[in-house]
Amino acid sequence: MNFFKRIKKAGRDFEIKKLAQKEFERRYSYPVLKKENWQVKEKLKEATSKNLELIRKAPHRPEGISYYEDIISGDKREKELQKFSGKIIGSFCIFTPEELIHSACAIPVRLCAGAYDTISIAEEVLPRDICPLVKSSFGFKVARFSYFELCDAVISPTPCDDKKKLGEILSNYLPVWSLRLPQSKEIGHSQEYWLREIRILKERIEQLTCNKITKKSLKESIRILHKRQEVLRRFYELRKNNPPLINGRDALLVIQTGFYDDINRWIEKTQKLCDELEERKSNNKLPLSNCRLLLTGAPIIWPNYKLLNIIEEMQSTIVIDELCSGTRHFYDPVEVNEWTMDGMLQAIANRYLLPSSCPCFTESDDRIDKILQSAEDFKVNGVIHHSLRLCPLYDMELPKVSRVFKDKGIPFLAIHTDYSLEDIEQIRTRVEAFLEMLRSRT
Ligand code: SF4
Ligand code: SF4
Repeated sequence: MNFFKRIKKAGRDFEIKKLAQKEFERRYSYPVLKKENWQVKEKLKEATSKNLELIRKAPHRPEGISYYEDIISGDKREKELQKFSGKIIGSFCIFTPEELIHSACAIPVRLCAGAYDTISIAEEVLPRDICPLVKSSFGFKVARFSYFELCDAVISPTPCDDKKKLGEILSNYLPVWSLRLPQSKEIGHSQEYWLREIRILKERIEQLTCNKITKKSLKESIRILHKRQEVLRRFYELRKNNPPLINGRDALLVIQTGFYDDINRWIEKTQKLCDELEERKSNNKLPLSNCRLLLTGAPIIWPNYKLLNIIEEMQSTIVIDELCSGTRHFYDPVEVNEWTMDGMLQAIANRYLLPSSCPCFTESDDRIDKILQSAEDFKVNGVIHHSLRLCPLYDMELPKVSRVFKDKGIPFLAIHTDYSLEDIEQIRTRVEAFLEMLRSRT
């Protein structure tokens, strides 16, 4: 190679190196978060009020639901948490034992998000082709918005690849504790491993809060969470009524505000709501429904109520769900055999692993059994399965789940979507055809 060619090549190599360096920085040096992103905040407020507007159009909603609307709107609870002098601990999914957080006088907040408007800001750091829920949740941190900003630490379970990596990336911004899930629930050594994870988590919470989790405080927390679970079961019993006493969107509002509301107040308000629903039984203005639906699949989280709005705007009601953002979150109690510290930790470990029907585990038959049981108990006319684009877990289970319902003669509709609003009309057409088919059967 002659001299001039060598110089040219060296220059080109230098340029390539510079570009590679820039690309590396773009990918791996995470942005410094300077201030709250007001544009995103405004868009979120808009999404919240639009959704509430749509929900409020539903007929004969219970009066007590206005409390949950207030909480889901954000400001009220955010201000309360800002004033809280203890620690706030964020978490994802449904594997974090809230009992441990409460008993250390801290407040748990579930951070899984359903906002479309935080996705583009998250994509400045995360790749585009990953789960929308993960991007949306991370976007709240990048926008320095809402409950994320108030968290002193985040517990990050590892159910799928996207959540695992989310935890790693988040650790650039705040303390993150991985809660490593076993692949299987059934085998003994998985359960031992999980119990160890729970013990490690307990120590971390104690260190962060500087509060010792004692036998007494843990017992008290278990008792309070039992109360929440009891009221929730009462609420679900009432949802069996036909005509329905409450629609599916309002029911999810009730559950999802419980992810970060003051627990004692939430229990009290939900007791009152149940009393109101009980009274409605004798004075129900809603007609008998022949479109009672069960909703299953990937989580649907506020404000991504797109599918719910479409379904319930067509005179049908979601009477039960099998979502980790719904029924699955609070339903099962911690069952303690021995009120020693070891006995309570064992019971907590069992509660957060064994009844979970999250498809991240290698076995999925218990999820199918649960859906079938609910379909029977709530006398549903059809099942809608929600698949979130780029979430392979639910998609891979779909053929098995749909076959089971087909064999039982229960109509089944699978919807693939994400957080964008572009496919609304397409989904509406499919849901409309499905509901027409249901009506023609009765
Ligand atoms: S389905 Fe499982 S992994 Fe996915 S968000 Fe829910 S709890 Fe987490
Ligand atoms: S929705 Fe699917 S991909 Fe997304 S976090 Fe949950 S399990 Fe993982």
